[in-house]
Amino acid sequence: MTPSDAPHDGMLSNCALYLLGALDPATESTFERHLAGCTECRRECERLGPAASAVAGLDSTDLSSPLPVDDATSGDSNVAGPAPDPEAR
Ligand SMILES: [Zn+2]
Repeated sequence: MTPSDAPHDGMLSNCALYLLGALDPATESTFERHLAGCTECRRECERLGPAASAVAGLDSTDLSSPLPVDDATSGDSNVAGPAPDPEAR
């Protein structure tokens, strides 16, 4: 067993980040080069695949639904929006 390019040790932990697209470009290309020659990491990516996309789906859903910002910040100078809904009360 001879690690050709990058140490396999840190690569495995990059699998999840890679699947989430959370790696920076330099690390991503290094990881892709490693993936091409490492069956173990490819298997790990395949194993994590569904879970990672599930997490990504949850995350984007969470981000796309804005938090209810009503009277918690109305004391600030940021009150340039529409009038508050009377149905909130
Ligand atoms: Zn590997």
